[in-house]
Amino acid sequence: MPRDVQRSKVYNWEDSLPLWAVGIEGRRSCSLRRCRELVDAATKLYGLPKIEVRVPEVDNRKSSAYYQEHFISLPKHFHRKDVALHEAAHYITGVLWPKATDHGPVFVRVYMHLLHELLGGDIKWLEDYAQFHSVKFSTRKTYSPGYKTLTPWQHASLQMDINHRSFLKR
Ligand SMILES: [Zn+2]
Repeated sequence: MPRDVQRSKVYNWEDSLPLWAVGIEGRRSCSLRRCRELVDAATKLYGLPKIEVRVPEVDNRKSSAYYQEHFISLPKHFHRKDVALHEAAHYITGVLWPKATDHGPVFVRVYMHLLHELLGGDIKWLEDYAQFHSVKFSTRKTYSPGYKTLTPWQHASLQMDINHRSFLKR
């Protein structure tokens, strides 16, 4: 796996985005239920099976949000629409473009599409802010929803993997 060179740049870019540019009104935080709805909408948009959104057992201010095959962990202080979609973008990118780096150009493009499609974020503003922070992003079309999809067999096999992992966890 290539080094995750863009990670801190992506974080700076996200922190710089005004709420209106990502289509979020008022406070960033939202309910866990809303986070789950957004993650479901994101996976549906890209034609992927649903994944679980968990709150970690050890949940404090130091806990970070993350995606791991195949669930998302969201500590309470990260019950935010933008963070939920950031993690959903990791899942989507990881499954559809497994060779892409963690916070690389493909990830950024997928995340932009999610912010645009699901929160009404302005693509041009997202791109302009990204450029300002020297964040690289891939072309709009190639990574847009529906452009690349799983075959029925791949979808079924991923669904089985997800079911199996959640069964093991119990
Ligand atoms: Zn990330």
